[in-house]
Amino acid sequence: MLQSKLFIKTIKELPKDETSFNAKELIRAGFIDKLAAGVYSFLPLGLKVHNKICWIIRQEMDAIGGQEILMPALIPKEAWATTNRWENFDALFRLAGGDKKEYGLGATHEEVVTPLVKKFVFSYKDLPAAVYQIQTKFRNELRAKAGLIRGREFSMKDLYSFHTDEKDLDKFYEVVTKSYFKILERCGLGGLTYLTYALGGTFSKYSHEFQTLAKTGEDTIYICQKCKIAINKEIIEEQKVCPQCKKKDFAEAKAVEVGNIFKLGARFSKPFGFTYMDEKGKKQDVVMGCYGLGPSRLMGTIVEVCHDGQGMIWPEEIAPFVASLLKIKNQKSKIKIDKVADKIYEDLEKAGVEVLYDDRENVSAGEKFAEADLIGCPYRLVVSEKTLARDSVEVKKRDKKEVEMVKISEVAKRLTHNMQHITESDFSEC
Ligand SMILES: [Zn+2]
Repeated sequence: MLQSKLFIKTIKELPKDETSFNAKELIRAGFIDKLAAGVYSFLPLGLKVHNKICWIIRQEMDAIGGQEILMPALIPKEAWATTNRWENFDALFRLAGGDKKEYGLGATHEEVVTPLVKKFVFSYKDLPAAVYQIQTKFRNELRAKAGLIRGREFSMKDLYSFHTDEKDLDKFYEVVTKSYFKILERCGLGGLTYLTYALGGTFSKYSHEFQTLAKTGEDTIYICQKCKIAINKEIIEEQKVCPQCKKKDFAEAKAVEVGNIFKLGARFSKPFGFTYMDEKGKKQDVVMGCYGLGPSRLMGTIVEVCHDGQGMIWPEEIAPFVASLLKIKNQKSKIKIDKVADKIYEDLEKAGVEVLYDDRENVSAGEKFAEADLIGCPYRLVVSEKTLARDSVEVKKRDKKEVEMVKISEVAKRLTHNMQHITESDFSEC
């Protein structure tokens, strides 16, 4: 993409009421725009990152047998009333329709997915089943000060699974846990994220959160130094030892909850009368699990964790572009530099390497360098008189100090080497 054609610009002035680091950084770099507290637009660069995160999530959900659907965000009061959540769900946005009926905006979708799957599942032969969606969710948060990490409107991947019994649910729960770590690994958060024990509700003793270490995190977790799992603040009072090794050797840390998984049992299937016929012809309650992971929240968390004083440092698989290409001209060699930089850009595009080409005139070299660092693509390529004299391009990794001269003819190969190939068409469905 040509930077001169991008309609957004990086900005110097930030909205005065924005306090979170991730939103400030993303607004400054032109990835998102703030409409209201906890409500943001995704601009071209930000949407590219968001779509890549969604693409990774889709791949991993499909790989464990999840089938993608899309449910409505506008959910009639009656559905919420069936599970007693119309009155009891504090963060539900409630609104009145012109048809004199009341609606809740989807904050979670058990009230939709349970009666939906009930229409198709009758016997043990139809189970297990797992469906997921990636959708905009709404929560009427009192405070929305954490940028993309706690929005009033945000994207969520929610997976729901349906089983004949607890044992089958337990098995799938483990599969999802592993799948979540794969997703987080690909998004650059693998080593920083802990499976964290949390309160489980009526059906199981625990639920689990995926907590990513971040100094700015809203949550406090206690990491068992032996097992490398954690427990959250809610349960540290009653659960004074590690649930796995029973020891008390914890390290306290700040973290952001990027995902959570619950065993629901019959909490939702019972009120909706969702049963199946077992092998003996006897009616049984369907046993359910639900599994949330927020793409926009992940994006905000990655910014909180992956940055330096100059800007963001995107992990390769979710960066808006693999590389920023900068041409730095002086009077003497400007025609040649134009020509060579254009050619490098074309060659990289042909090789399937996504490049943000800073082809802008009348922008100083200093500004170009600063913006490339702020935007945070994994590689920075510079074409200048100095590099041309060596028939080369200067290549620098965003997270390293050293620069390297790479022959012009070798640049495309250098960037595609070891790179997981994702082209635009791969995630057009996002
Ligand atoms: Zn332990």
